[in-house]
Amino acid sequence: MVIQITNFINNVFMPTSNHIESYDPSNGQLLCKVPDSGKNECDMAIEAAAQAFKTWSMTSQMERAKILNRIADEIEKNIDELAKAESQDQGKPLSISTNFEIPRAAYNFRFFAAAILNHKNESTELPHLKSFSYTTEVPSGVAVLISPWNLPLYLLTWKIAPCIASGCTCVCKPSEFTSLTAFLLCDILLKAGLPQGVVNIVFGLGSKIGNDLVTHPEAKLISFTGGTVTGNVIRKVTANEPAKRLSLELGGKNPGIVFQDADLNKHIKAIGNSCFQNSGQICLCSSRYYVHVSRINEFLDLLVKHARGMVVGDPFDKNTNMGPVVSKQHYDKVMSYIDQAAKLGCEILCGETVDEKPAGLNSNGYYILPTVITNLEDSSPLMQEEIFGPVVCVTTFHEEDEVIERANNNRYGLAATLWTNDVGRAHRVSRALLAGTTWINCFLVRDLNMPFGGFKDSGAGREGYPYSFEFFTEKKTICVNY
Ligand code: NAD
Repeated sequence: MVIQITNFINNVFMPTSNHIESYDPSNGQLLCKVPDSGKNECDMAIEAAAQAFKTWSMTSQMERAKILNRIADEIEKNIDELAKAESQDQGKPLSISTNFEIPRAAYNFRFFAAAILNHKNESTELPHLKSFSYTTEVPSGVAVLISPWNLPLYLLTWKIAPCIASGCTCVCKPSEFTSLTAFLLCDILLKAGLPQGVVNIVFGLGSKIGNDLVTHPEAKLISFTGGTVTGNVIRKVTANEPAKRLSLELGGKNPGIVFQDADLNKHIKAIGNSCFQNSGQICLCSSRYYVHVSRINEFLDLLVKHARGMVVGDPFDKNTNMGPVVSKQHYDKVMSYIDQAAKLGCEILCGETVDEKPAGLNSNGYYILPTVITNLEDSSPLMQEEIFGPVVCVTTFHEEDEVIERANNNRYGLAATLWTNDVGRAHRVSRALLAGTTWINCFLVRDLNMPFGGFKDSGAGREGYPYSFEFFTEKKTICVNY
Protein backbone atom coordinates (compact mmCIF):
# COMPACT_ATOMS: atom_id res chain seq x y z
CA MET A 1 0.00 0.00 0.00
CA VAL A 2 1.35 3.42 -0.98
CA ILE A 3 1.60 5.78 2.01
CA GLN A 4 0.14 9.24 1.49
CA ILE A 5 2.18 11.79 3.40
CA THR A 6 0.69 15.17 4.31
CA ASN A 7 2.17 18.38 5.62
CA PHE A 8 1.81 19.19 9.32
CA ILE A 9 1.11 22.87 9.94
CA ASN A 10 -0.26 24.34 13.17
CA ASN A 11 -0.86 20.78 14.47
CA VAL A 12 -3.12 20.02 11.49
CA PHE A 13 -2.42 17.44 8.79
CA MET A 14 -2.81 19.29 5.50
CA PRO A 15 -3.00 17.41 2.20
CA THR A 16 -1.57 18.94 -0.98
CA SER A 17 -2.80 18.48 -4.53
CA ASN A 18 0.62 17.71 -6.05
CA HIS A 19 2.95 14.92 -5.04
CA ILE A 20 6.36 13.50 -5.68
CA GLU A 21 7.13 9.82 -5.40
CA SER A 22 9.49 8.10 -3.01
CA TYR A 23 10.61 4.47 -3.44
CA ASP A 24 11.50 1.51 -1.26
CA PRO A 25 15.23 1.08 -1.99
CA SER A 26 15.16 -2.67 -1.36
CA ASN A 27 12.87 -3.34 -4.35
CA GLY A 28 12.42 -0.06 -6.24
CA GLN A 29 8.67 -0.03 -5.60
CA LEU A 30 6.67 3.11 -4.90
CA LEU A 31 6.47 3.55 -1.11
CA CYS A 32 5.20 7.07 -0.41
CA LYS A 33 3.51 9.94 -2.15
CA VAL A 34 5.20 13.00 -0.70
CA PRO A 35 3.65 16.49 -0.84
CA ASP A 36 5.20 18.62 -3.55
CA SER A 37 4.90 21.71 -1.37
CA GLY A 38 5.42 25.21 -2.70
CA LYS A 39 5.46 28.81 -1.58
CA ASN A 40 1.91 28.72 -0.28
CA GLU A 41 2.66 25.87 2.16
CA CYS A 42 5.94 27.51 3.09
CA ASP A 43 4.20 30.79 3.96
CA MET A 44 1.51 29.00 6.01
CA ALA A 45 4.08 27.02 7.98
CA ILE A 46 6.31 30.01 8.70
CA GLU A 47 3.31 32.08 9.74
CA ALA A 48 2.20 29.29 12.12
CA ALA A 49 5.69 29.13 13.64
CA ALA A 50 5.86 32.93 13.97
CA GLN A 51 2.51 33.04 15.80
CA ALA A 52 3.50 30.17 18.09
CA PHE A 53 6.83 31.83 18.88
CA LYS A 54 5.00 34.62 20.75
CA THR A 55 3.82 32.20 23.43
CA TRP A 56 6.32 29.31 23.21
CA SER A 57 9.27 31.67 23.73
CA MET A 58 7.67 32.74 27.05
CA THR A 59 7.15 29.21 28.46
CA SER A 60 9.32 28.06 31.33
CA GLN A 61 12.24 25.71 30.86
CA MET A 62 10.36 23.23 33.06
CA GLU A 63 7.34 23.25 30.78
CA ARG A 64 9.49 22.78 27.69
CA ALA A 65 11.54 20.00 29.28
CA LYS A 66 8.33 18.19 30.30
CA ILE A 67 7.09 18.19 26.71
CA LEU A 68 10.47 17.14 25.30
CA ASN A 69 10.50 14.18 27.68
CA ARG A 70 6.96 13.25 26.65
CA ILE A 71 8.04 13.28 23.00
CA ALA A 72 10.92 10.95 23.95
CA ASP A 73 8.45 8.67 25.78
CA GLU A 74 6.21 8.50 22.72
CA ILE A 75 9.13 7.73 20.41
CA GLU A 76 10.20 4.93 22.74
CA LYS A 77 6.66 3.52 22.86
CA ASN A 78 6.65 3.45 19.05
CA ILE A 79 10.21 2.22 18.39
CA ASP A 80 9.11 -0.80 16.39
CA GLU A 81 6.84 1.13 14.06
CA LEU A 82 9.36 3.92 13.56
CA ALA A 83 12.25 1.51 13.03
CA LYS A 84 10.34 -0.46 10.42
CA ALA A 85 9.39 2.74 8.60
CA GLU A 86 12.99 4.01 8.68
CA SER A 87 14.38 0.76 7.31
CA GLN A 88 11.78 0.52 4.58
CA ASP A 89 12.22 4.13 3.53
CA GLN A 90 16.02 4.40 3.78
CA GLY A 91 17.22 0.80 3.36
CA LYS A 92 19.20 0.45 6.58
CA PRO A 93 19.08 -2.89 8.47
CA LEU A 94 16.18 -3.09 10.89
CA SER A 95 18.57 -4.00 13.71
CA ILE A 96 20.34 -0.62 13.27
CA SER A 97 17.08 1.36 13.19
CA THR A 98 15.71 -0.50 16.20
CA ASN A 99 18.79 -0.55 18.40
CA PHE A 100 20.60 2.60 17.44
CA GLU A 101 18.91 5.28 15.33
CA ILE A 102 15.36 5.48 16.71
CA PRO A 103 16.56 5.21 20.34
CA ARG A 104 18.99 8.03 19.57
CA ALA A 105 16.07 10.14 18.23
CA ALA A 106 14.34 9.70 21.62
CA TYR A 107 17.59 10.43 23.44
CA ASN A 108 18.02 13.70 21.48
CA PHE A 109 14.85 14.97 23.23
CA ARG A 110 15.83 13.63 26.66
CA PHE A 111 19.32 15.06 26.36
CA PHE A 112 18.17 18.59 25.51
CA ALA A 113 15.35 18.42 28.09
CA ALA A 114 17.99 17.80 30.77
CA ALA A 115 20.34 20.35 29.23
CA ILE A 116 17.81 23.20 29.31
CA LEU A 117 17.06 22.53 32.98
CA ASN A 118 20.75 22.52 33.87
CA HIS A 119 21.78 25.34 31.59
CA LYS A 120 23.56 28.20 33.38
CA ASN A 121 24.63 31.64 32.33
CA GLU A 122 27.78 33.50 33.30
CA SER A 123 28.47 36.39 35.64
CA THR A 124 31.57 38.44 36.34
CA GLU A 125 32.36 41.17 38.85
CA LEU A 126 34.53 44.31 38.66
CA PRO A 127 34.70 45.37 42.36
CA HIS A 128 36.78 48.51 41.65
CA LEU A 129 33.88 49.74 39.47
CA LYS A 130 31.28 48.45 41.94
CA SER A 131 29.63 46.47 39.19
CA PHE A 132 28.81 43.00 38.22
CA SER A 133 27.64 41.73 34.86
CA TYR A 134 25.69 38.68 33.92
CA THR A 135 24.51 37.10 30.72
CA THR A 136 21.07 35.97 29.75
CA GLU A 137 19.71 34.42 26.59
CA VAL A 138 16.54 34.93 24.61
CA PRO A 139 15.24 32.60 21.90
CA SER A 140 15.91 34.04 18.44
CA GLY A 141 12.69 33.30 16.56
CA VAL A 142 11.55 31.00 13.79
CA ALA A 143 14.08 28.41 12.64
CA VAL A 144 14.09 26.45 9.41
CA LEU A 145 15.49 22.96 10.00
CA ILE A 146 16.56 21.03 6.91
CA SER A 147 17.79 17.44 7.11
CA PRO A 148 19.24 14.81 4.76
CA TRP A 149 18.24 11.22 3.97
CA ASN A 150 21.03 9.20 5.53
CA LEU A 151 19.94 9.24 9.21
CA PRO A 152 16.47 10.69 8.74
CA LEU A 153 14.80 10.83 12.16
CA TYR A 154 18.06 10.84 14.12
CA LEU A 155 19.32 14.00 12.41
CA LEU A 156 16.00 15.82 12.24
CA THR A 157 15.39 15.37 15.98
CA TRP A 158 18.98 16.45 16.68
CA LYS A 159 17.81 19.85 15.42
CA ILE A 160 14.20 19.95 16.65
CA ALA A 161 15.09 19.10 20.26
CA PRO A 162 17.53 21.99 20.96
CA CYS A 163 15.43 24.37 18.88
CA ILE A 164 12.25 23.94 20.91
CA ALA A 165 14.11 23.48 24.20
CA SER A 166 15.61 26.95 23.58
CA GLY A 167 12.14 28.46 23.12
CA CYS A 168 12.32 28.80 19.33
CA THR A 169 9.71 27.44 16.95
CA CYS A 170 10.41 25.79 13.63
CA VAL A 171 9.51 24.67 10.17
CA CYS A 172 11.19 21.39 9.25
CA LYS A 173 11.96 20.12 5.76
CA PRO A 174 13.06 16.47 5.73
CA SER A 175 14.67 14.96 2.64
CA GLU A 176 12.23 14.14 -0.16
CA PHE A 177 13.89 10.68 -0.34
CA THR A 178 13.04 9.78 3.28
CA SER A 179 9.97 11.60 4.58
CA LEU A 180 8.25 8.75 6.36
CA THR A 181 9.53 8.88 9.95
CA ALA A 182 9.21 12.68 10.05
CA PHE A 183 5.56 12.18 9.07
CA LEU A 184 5.10 9.62 11.88
CA LEU A 185 6.73 12.07 14.28
CA CYS A 186 3.84 14.50 13.73
CA ASP A 187 1.42 12.18 15.53
CA ILE A 188 3.92 11.81 18.34
CA LEU A 189 4.16 15.59 18.73
CA LEU A 190 0.37 15.77 19.02
CA LYS A 191 0.25 12.96 21.61
CA ALA A 192 2.99 14.67 23.61
CA GLY A 193 0.88 17.82 23.82
CA LEU A 194 3.18 20.15 21.91
CA PRO A 195 1.23 23.40 21.37
CA GLN A 196 0.19 24.19 17.83
CA GLY A 197 2.66 25.85 15.51
CA VAL A 198 5.76 25.07 17.59
CA VAL A 199 6.93 22.38 15.15
CA ASN A 200 5.63 22.44 11.58
CA ILE A 201 6.78 19.96 8.97
CA VAL A 202 6.53 20.59 5.23
CA PHE A 203 7.59 17.98 2.71
CA GLY A 204 8.85 18.35 -0.81
CA LEU A 205 11.75 19.16 -3.07
CA GLY A 206 14.75 20.94 -1.60
CA SER A 207 15.30 23.07 -4.68
CA LYS A 208 11.68 24.31 -4.43
CA ILE A 209 10.27 24.43 -0.90
CA GLY A 210 13.75 24.35 0.66
CA ASN A 211 14.65 27.49 -1.21
CA ASP A 212 11.33 29.18 -0.34
CA LEU A 213 11.93 28.43 3.33
CA VAL A 214 15.51 29.63 3.65
CA THR A 215 14.79 32.88 1.82
CA HIS A 216 11.63 33.68 3.82
CA PRO A 217 12.19 36.96 5.71
CA GLU A 218 10.61 35.54 8.91
CA ALA A 219 13.09 32.64 8.98
CA LYS A 220 15.71 34.04 11.35
CA LEU A 221 17.74 30.84 11.70
CA ILE A 222 18.62 28.17 9.18
CA SER A 223 19.99 24.90 10.52
CA PHE A 224 20.98 22.73 7.58
CA THR A 225 22.53 19.29 7.35
CA GLY A 226 23.27 17.98 3.88
CA GLY A 227 25.71 18.23 1.02
CA THR A 228 28.32 20.97 0.57
CA VAL A 229 26.87 21.99 -2.81
CA THR A 230 23.46 22.65 -1.24
CA GLY A 231 25.06 24.36 1.76
CA ASN A 232 26.81 26.74 -0.61
CA VAL A 233 23.54 27.44 -2.47
CA ILE A 234 21.96 28.37 0.88
CA ARG A 235 24.90 30.64 1.70
CA LYS A 236 24.46 32.40 -1.65
CA VAL A 237 20.68 32.86 -1.60
CA THR A 238 20.80 34.23 1.94
CA ALA A 239 23.90 36.37 1.43
CA ASN A 240 21.90 39.60 1.25
CA GLU A 241 20.36 38.96 4.66
CA PRO A 242 23.35 38.99 7.01
CA ALA A 243 21.10 38.89 10.08
CA LYS A 244 19.94 35.40 9.13
CA ARG A 245 21.99 32.96 11.15
CA LEU A 246 23.26 29.80 9.42
CA SER A 247 24.41 26.52 10.89
CA LEU A 248 25.77 24.28 8.15
CA GLU A 249 26.69 20.62 8.69
CA LEU A 250 28.01 19.51 5.33
CA GLY A 251 29.86 16.75 3.53
CA GLY A 252 33.02 14.89 4.43
CA LYS A 253 35.83 12.86 2.91
CA ASN A 254 37.26 11.57 6.12
CA PRO A 255 40.70 10.06 6.47
CA GLY A 256 41.40 6.93 8.49
CA ILE A 257 45.07 6.52 9.47
CA VAL A 258 46.56 3.18 10.48
CA PHE A 259 49.96 3.52 12.17
CA GLN A 260 52.61 0.82 12.36
CA ASP A 261 51.63 -0.14 15.92
CA ALA A 262 47.86 -0.43 15.38
CA ASP A 263 46.14 -3.45 16.88
CA LEU A 264 44.43 -4.51 13.68
CA ASN A 265 43.00 -7.78 14.91
CA LYS A 266 41.31 -5.98 17.80
CA HIS A 267 39.98 -3.09 15.74
CA ILE A 268 39.14 -4.54 12.34
CA LYS A 269 35.41 -4.63 13.11
CA ALA A 270 35.38 -0.95 14.07
CA ILE A 271 37.53 -0.14 11.03
CA GLY A 272 35.04 -2.04 8.86
CA ASN A 273 32.17 -0.07 10.41
CA SER A 274 34.03 3.16 9.74
CA CYS A 275 34.02 2.21 6.04
CA PHE A 276 30.68 0.50 5.55
CA GLN A 277 28.17 1.36 8.31
CA ASN A 278 24.81 2.39 6.81
CA SER A 279 26.28 1.38 3.40
CA GLY A 280 28.94 4.07 3.89
CA GLN A 281 26.19 6.70 3.90
CA ILE A 282 27.30 8.46 7.07
CA CYS A 283 29.01 11.81 6.70
CA LEU A 284 31.54 10.60 9.32
CA CYS A 285 32.64 7.38 7.61
CA SER A 286 36.36 7.06 6.91
CA SER A 287 36.36 6.70 3.15
CA ARG A 288 40.08 7.12 2.42
CA TYR A 289 42.49 5.02 4.44
CA TYR A 290 46.19 5.77 4.79
CA VAL A 291 48.00 2.68 6.07
CA HIS A 292 51.63 2.55 7.19
CA VAL A 293 53.51 0.75 4.46
CA SER A 294 54.71 -1.92 6.90
CA ARG A 295 51.11 -3.03 7.64
CA ILE A 296 49.41 -2.66 4.27
CA ASN A 297 49.21 -6.35 3.28
CA GLU A 298 47.84 -7.38 6.66
CA PHE A 299 45.36 -4.47 6.65
CA LEU A 300 44.04 -5.26 3.19
CA ASP A 301 43.70 -8.96 3.96
CA LEU A 302 41.69 -8.22 7.09
CA LEU A 303 39.54 -5.51 5.52
CA VAL A 304 38.71 -7.56 2.43
CA LYS A 305 37.85 -10.53 4.65
CA HIS A 306 35.63 -8.28 6.75
CA ALA A 307 33.91 -6.80 3.67
CA ARG A 308 33.31 -10.22 2.13
CA GLY A 309 31.93 -11.45 5.44
CA MET A 310 29.26 -8.75 5.56
CA VAL A 311 25.76 -9.93 4.78
CA VAL A 312 24.30 -7.63 2.15
CA GLY A 313 20.58 -8.10 1.87
CA ASP A 314 17.01 -7.34 2.78
CA PRO A 315 16.97 -4.72 5.57
CA PHE A 316 14.28 -6.76 7.33
CA ASP A 317 16.35 -9.95 7.51
CA LYS A 318 17.91 -10.16 10.96
CA ASN A 319 21.22 -11.44 9.54
CA THR A 320 21.67 -8.45 7.26
CA ASN A 321 24.62 -6.13 8.01
CA MET A 322 24.15 -3.87 5.01
CA GLY A 323 21.04 -2.92 3.03
CA PRO A 324 20.73 -1.08 -0.29
CA VAL A 325 21.73 2.54 -0.83
CA VAL A 326 18.92 5.05 -0.58
CA SER A 327 17.84 5.68 -4.18
CA LYS A 328 18.42 4.87 -7.83
CA GLN A 329 19.97 8.29 -8.27
CA HIS A 330 22.44 7.65 -5.46
CA TYR A 331 23.13 4.09 -6.69
CA ASP A 332 24.13 5.54 -10.08
CA LYS A 333 26.39 8.12 -8.43
CA VAL A 334 28.25 5.56 -6.30
CA MET A 335 28.57 3.11 -9.18
CA SER A 336 29.99 5.84 -11.42
CA TYR A 337 32.95 6.18 -8.99
CA ILE A 338 33.54 2.42 -9.10
CA ASP A 339 33.49 2.55 -12.93
CA GLN A 340 35.98 5.43 -12.81
CA ALA A 341 38.26 3.38 -10.55
CA ALA A 342 38.36 0.61 -13.13
CA LYS A 343 39.11 3.14 -15.89
CA LEU A 344 41.84 4.89 -13.84
CA GLY A 345 43.70 1.60 -13.45
CA CYS A 346 43.03 1.26 -9.71
CA GLU A 347 42.82 -2.19 -8.23
CA ILE A 348 39.42 -3.27 -6.93
CA LEU A 349 40.10 -5.94 -4.32
CA CYS A 350 36.56 -6.95 -3.46
CA GLY A 351 32.96 -5.94 -3.99
CA GLU A 352 31.49 -4.49 -7.16
CA THR A 353 33.03 -5.72 -10.46
CA VAL A 354 34.93 -8.45 -8.56
CA ASP A 355 32.41 -10.47 -6.53
CA GLU A 356 29.02 -11.91 -7.37
CA LYS A 357 25.96 -10.38 -5.72
CA PRO A 358 24.43 -12.86 -3.27
CA ALA A 359 21.57 -14.89 -4.67
CA GLY A 360 18.07 -13.78 -3.72
CA LEU A 361 18.64 -10.00 -3.70
CA ASN A 362 15.77 -8.20 -5.35
CA SER A 363 17.24 -7.18 -8.70
CA ASN A 364 15.26 -3.91 -8.63
CA GLY A 365 16.83 -2.95 -5.27
CA TYR A 366 19.74 -0.52 -5.09
CA TYR A 367 22.31 -2.92 -3.61
CA ILE A 368 26.04 -2.21 -3.78
CA LEU A 369 28.60 -4.65 -2.36
CA PRO A 370 31.20 -3.34 0.11
CA THR A 371 34.05 -2.41 -2.19
CA VAL A 372 37.76 -1.94 -1.36
CA ILE A 373 39.88 -0.06 -3.88
CA THR A 374 43.63 0.44 -3.86
CA ASN A 375 46.44 1.67 -6.09
CA LEU A 376 45.18 5.26 -6.22
CA GLU A 377 46.84 8.65 -6.58
CA ASP A 378 46.02 11.17 -3.81
CA SER A 379 44.73 13.51 -6.51
CA SER A 380 42.27 10.93 -7.83
CA PRO A 381 38.59 11.97 -7.61
CA LEU A 382 38.06 8.81 -5.58
CA MET A 383 40.46 10.11 -2.92
CA GLN A 384 39.24 13.70 -3.06
CA GLU A 385 35.44 13.58 -3.56
CA GLU A 386 32.68 12.36 -1.29
CA ILE A 387 31.38 9.06 -2.70
CA PHE A 388 29.01 8.44 0.23
CA GLY A 389 28.60 4.73 -0.43
CA PRO A 390 30.12 1.40 0.65
CA VAL A 391 33.41 2.17 -1.07
CA VAL A 392 36.74 2.66 0.68
CA CYS A 393 39.96 3.79 -0.98
CA VAL A 394 43.21 2.59 0.57
CA THR A 395 46.75 3.88 0.10
CA THR A 396 50.07 3.73 1.98
CA PHE A 397 52.33 6.22 3.82
CA HIS A 398 55.79 6.19 5.40
CA GLU A 399 56.08 9.09 7.88
CA GLU A 400 53.81 10.81 10.42
CA ASP A 401 54.33 14.34 9.01
CA GLU A 402 53.73 13.08 5.52
CA VAL A 403 50.40 11.44 6.39
CA ILE A 404 49.17 14.52 8.28
CA GLU A 405 49.84 16.68 5.25
CA ARG A 406 48.18 14.24 2.87
CA ALA A 407 45.17 13.71 5.12
CA ASN A 408 44.69 17.48 5.40
CA ASN A 409 45.06 18.00 1.67
CA ASN A 410 41.33 17.83 0.99
CA ARG A 411 38.52 20.39 0.79
CA TYR A 412 36.62 18.71 3.63
CA GLY A 413 37.38 18.57 7.36
CA LEU A 414 34.61 16.76 9.18
CA ALA A 415 36.11 13.75 10.96
CA ALA A 416 39.03 11.34 11.11
CA THR A 417 39.89 7.98 12.66
CA LEU A 418 43.34 7.07 14.00
CA TRP A 419 44.41 3.54 14.79
CA THR A 420 47.49 3.38 17.02
CA ASN A 421 48.66 2.31 20.47
CA ASP A 422 51.09 5.22 20.79
CA VAL A 423 49.36 7.74 23.09
CA GLY A 424 51.68 10.61 22.24
CA ARG A 425 51.25 10.10 18.55
CA ALA A 426 47.48 9.85 18.90
CA HIS A 427 47.25 13.27 20.61
CA ARG A 428 49.84 14.90 18.36
CA VAL A 429 48.19 13.78 15.13
CA SER A 430 44.64 14.55 16.38
CA ARG A 431 45.72 18.10 17.10
CA ALA A 432 47.31 18.53 13.68
CA LEU A 433 44.41 17.13 11.66
CA LEU A 434 41.95 19.67 10.26
CA ALA A 435 38.88 17.75 11.39
CA GLY A 436 35.98 18.59 13.70
CA THR A 437 36.06 15.16 15.36
CA THR A 438 38.87 12.61 15.61
CA TRP A 439 38.25 9.11 16.91
CA ILE A 440 41.20 7.14 18.26
CA ASN A 441 40.77 3.36 18.10
CA CYS A 442 37.00 3.71 17.74
CA PHE A 443 34.35 5.05 15.39
CA LEU A 444 31.07 6.93 15.85
CA VAL A 445 31.17 7.11 19.63
CA ARG A 446 29.19 10.26 20.35
CA ASP A 447 28.96 12.30 23.53
CA LEU A 448 26.35 14.97 22.82
CA ASN A 449 28.12 17.34 25.24
CA MET A 450 30.97 17.64 22.72
CA PRO A 451 30.95 20.15 19.85
CA PHE A 452 30.01 18.58 16.53
CA GLY A 453 30.80 20.21 13.19
CA GLY A 454 33.28 20.57 10.42
CA PHE A 455 36.34 22.51 9.26
CA LYS A 456 36.66 23.94 5.74
CA ASP A 457 33.94 22.84 3.28
CA SER A 458 32.41 20.53 5.89
CA GLY A 459 30.44 23.35 7.41
CA ALA A 460 30.11 26.26 9.75
CA GLY A 461 29.02 26.21 13.38
CA ARG A 462 28.87 23.49 16.00
CA GLU A 463 25.97 21.40 17.34
CA GLY A 464 25.63 19.75 20.76
CA TYR A 465 25.39 21.18 24.27
CA PRO A 466 25.74 24.11 24.79
CA TYR A 467 26.59 24.92 21.16
CA SER A 468 23.08 24.29 19.79
CA PHE A 469 21.60 26.60 22.45
CA GLU A 470 24.11 29.28 21.44
CA PHE A 471 22.84 28.97 17.88
CA PHE A 472 19.13 29.16 18.72
CA THR A 473 19.39 32.06 21.18
CA GLU A 474 20.71 35.61 21.35
CA LYS A 475 23.02 36.24 24.29
CA LYS A 476 22.74 39.51 26.23
CA THR A 477 25.03 41.11 28.77
CA ILE A 478 23.40 43.02 31.64
CA CYS A 479 25.59 45.21 33.82
CA VAL A 480 24.52 46.31 37.33
CA ASN A 481 26.09 49.00 39.46
CA TYR A 482 26.01 48.50 43.26
P1 NAD B 1 21.32 17.39 0.04
O1 NAD B 1 22.18 18.58 0.24
O2 NAD B 1 21.02 16.97 -1.35
O3 NAD B 1 19.92 17.57 0.76
C1 NAD B 1 19.81 17.85 2.13
C2 NAD B 1 18.49 18.54 2.39
O4 NAD B 1 18.51 19.81 1.75
C3 NAD B 1 17.28 17.81 1.82
O5 NAD B 1 16.19 17.95 2.70
C4 NAD B 1 17.00 18.56 0.54
O6 NAD B 1 15.67 18.49 0.12
C5 NAD B 1 17.36 19.98 0.96
N1 NAD B 1 17.69 20.89 -0.14
C6 NAD B 1 18.14 20.58 -1.38
N2 NAD B 1 18.32 21.70 -2.10
C7 NAD B 1 18.00 22.74 -1.31
C8 NAD B 1 18.00 24.14 -1.47
N3 NAD B 1 18.37 24.72 -2.62
N4 NAD B 1 17.62 24.92 -0.45
C9 NAD B 1 17.26 24.36 0.73
N5 NAD B 1 17.24 23.03 0.95
C10 NAD B 1 17.61 22.22 -0.06
O7 NAD B 1 22.02 16.23 0.85
P2 NAD B 1 21.59 14.72 0.91
O8 NAD B 1 21.98 14.09 -0.39
O9 NAD B 1 20.20 14.63 1.40
O10 NAD B 1 22.52 14.18 2.08
C11 NAD B 1 23.81 13.70 1.89
C12 NAD B 1 24.83 14.75 2.25
O11 NAD B 1 24.62 15.19 3.58
C13 NAD B 1 26.24 14.23 2.21
O12 NAD B 1 27.07 15.19 1.61
C14 NAD B 1 26.60 14.07 3.68
O13 NAD B 1 27.98 14.15 3.96
C15 NAD B 1 25.86 15.22 4.28
N6 NAD B 1 25.64 15.00 5.70
C16 NAD B 1 26.34 15.78 6.58
C17 NAD B 1 26.19 15.58 7.95
C18 NAD B 1 26.95 16.40 8.95
O14 NAD B 1 26.58 16.36 10.13
N7 NAD B 1 27.96 17.16 8.56
C19 NAD B 1 25.31 14.60 8.41
C20 NAD B 1 24.63 13.83 7.49
C21 NAD B 1 24.79 14.04 6.13
